[in-house]
Amino acid sequence: MPSRSETTPTTMSPPVHVGLPLPDAVPVGGCAHCDRYERDRDRARAAGDWSAESDAHVLWRWHSLRAHGWSRSV
Ligand SMILES: [Zn+2]
Repeated sequence: MPSRSETTPTTMSPPVHVGLPLPDAVPVGGCAHCDRYERDRDRARAAGDWSAESDAHVLWRWHSLRAHGWSRSV
């Protein structure tokens, strides 16, 4: 099955990987939002709540992208 994403650069939105684990976001020192997202994720992970962990992760990645220009490719 051809994949357009392999031939068309994505410039408007980050890649979406539904159902696949995402790499950890990277906290930016001094950013209260990053601290909060990291805490939320760690708390969810410690509780074994993968759904909450995933939610925190997605929110954190979006925050990183918008606030810090973070766009590490997967
Ligand atoms: Zn941040």
